[in-house]
Amino acid sequence: MKPWEAYFRRVTPYVPGEQPQGARLIKLNTNENPYPPAPGVERALREMDAGAFRKYPDPAASGLTAALAAYHGLAPEQIFVGVGSDDVLGMAFLTFFNSGKPVLFPDVTYSFYPVWAELFGIPYETVPLDAAFQIRTEDYARENGGVLFPNPNAPTGCYMPPEQVEEILRGNQDVVVVVDEAYIDFGGTSAKGLLGRYENLLVVQTFSKSRAMAGMRIGYAMGAPSLIRAMQNVKYSYNSYTMNLPSILLGIASIKDDAYFRETVDRIIATRERAKVRFRELGFVCTDSMANFLFIRHERVPAEELFEALKAQQIYVRHFRGPRVSEYLRVTVGTEEEMEELYRFLERYLSRR
Ligand code: PMP
Repeated sequence: MKPWEAYFRRVTPYVPGEQPQGARLIKLNTNENPYPPAPGVERALREMDAGAFRKYPDPAASGLTAALAAYHGLAPEQIFVGVGSDDVLGMAFLTFFNSGKPVLFPDVTYSFYPVWAELFGIPYETVPLDAAFQIRTEDYARENGGVLFPNPNAPTGCYMPPEQVEEILRGNQDVVVVVDEAYIDFGGTSAKGLLGRYENLLVVQTFSKSRAMAGMRIGYAMGAPSLIRAMQNVKYSYNSYTMNLPSILLGIASIKDDAYFRETVDRIIATRERAKVRFRELGFVCTDSMANFLFIRHERVPAEELFEALKAQQIYVRHFRGPRVSEYLRVTVGTEEEMEELYRFLERYLSRR
């Protein structure tokens, strides 16, 4: 080891899903949207003036912040934008979880949470989900340094209505509670309606799933102006210009095209509901997902075997290691055609098994 290497920060990084290349493969492994972004986004992209790249972007991304505020019926002071919700969530960890007490999040959840906690030296405790993968709200009513959970949860897709989110808030009035709503647009009701009553609530959303813009990296938080200001202070202490100009402009274009947004989200929901029926017919156990993915386990055939068989067929899904989750596959909802091809393959494969 070189002498300086002794002083490197040692971390075990988050492992994102594979991004295999190829035209013919069916990619159902990273919860991307199977449809393109809104037509207005493509128009704005074509009309973009490269000359504008000469200057630094607006550090506050005011245009995008204003568009989001208007869309959600909030004040611009209640919006924080970042480079995907990963950036926003990382900033939230850094800004809010400094009490030295453990932050609470579910044991089965987005696997980035423990990585940020480790990176920033924030203590945490995981709270077990119940046997049906549901969050038990009463388990969060204890001393902690903050609470964080996705709703719907990942990778299970299980959803809690705002009344249950409020139960967690009622039991946690002295810490910041972060609700990660990466998948809320696929049929859930956002906890943003609770913002007026809970100044310690931060609701995080993204353009990566329902707005089909994962490649643009746009995420945002909604919360009381005091929370947003605190996050901005941390952000400006690290990197002022997180949002690049194309992301700001194309994000605004996406927000403007609400009809297309609703239409594609509805199509994904319809495909998901049909997938629940088809998977059950094929012998899978399936959670009642409210996200753009399904969490499935076959009655007879191990998940890892199915994962490999699908991959050999150029169909990519996600398999996680770890207790409980390793029995399952997470399958992103694709187009109707992609899903039909998946069912056809599974039918053939399972009939020979
Ligand atoms: N939260 C959850 C629960 C997720 O599954 C993801 C996607 N990996 C994210 C946040 C981050 O998404 P993005 O950074 O693309 O907004």
